[in-house]
Amino acid sequence: MRILIVEDEENIARDIARAVRRLGYVPDIAHDGEQAHFMGFTEDYDAVVLDLGLPVMDGLAVLRNWRAEQRHFPVLVLTARDTWQDKVEGIDAGADDYLAKPFEMPELLARLRAIIRRHKGLSSAVLTFGPLSIDTRHAQAMLDGMIVQLTPLEFRLLNYLAHKRGEPAPRTELLEHIYGSDAERDMNALDALITRLRRKVGSNILRNRRGHGYFLAGAQQDGHDSSS
Ligand code: CA
Repeated sequence: MRILIVEDEENIARDIARAVRRLGYVPDIAHDGEQAHFMGFTEDYDAVVLDLGLPVMDGLAVLRNWRAEQRHFPVLVLTARDTWQDKVEGIDAGADDYLAKPFEMPELLARLRAIIRRHKGLSSAVLTFGPLSIDTRHAQAMLDGMIVQLTPLEFRLLNYLAHKRGEPAPRTELLEHIYGSDAERDMNALDALITRLRRKVGSNILRNRRGHGYFLAGAQQDGHDSSS
């Protein structure tokens, strides 16, 4: 899953990028409002972390533009001030959630996971497909109660498919959301990755529907666990 991080303070942007990468997301960073607006308009992000105080174009203007352009990805807004006026403005502009600076990284990650889940219509932080469960809080998968040893890239792929809730994803979509804007996007590498992952989680779970793409079989209807 691709996350756009919009933050002009480079240390903070880097820290967030590092933290989301550990959770199996693919981060891009924009340092000013104009660059952010362009990236959000041209790339297909699964969620955005948006600081409001930005050079060139402020965060609220960026958000209003995206929404006016029918860009519907979930947005977590970061504000320097925790005032109700800021929240009202942000919510009216189309923010999905709010976090005041300074923040604790685990809270940012929990809020990010939550807006992604809501956007995809999921309520649980653990996604289950038959004997396979994917814990989005710890970037970990279990098969029949045993931890599956996955590389970061394998987890990325699994996590993306899990959030599709059984809907198939074509290879081009996987390529974009697993590798992001990396120069090393390569269909052969993706195919090899899929083969390795199928071996680990079972080809009866990670399946292919001809002409539609890959999906995880046995999606559980939303569980009752609403923890983040
Ligand atoms: Ca700022």
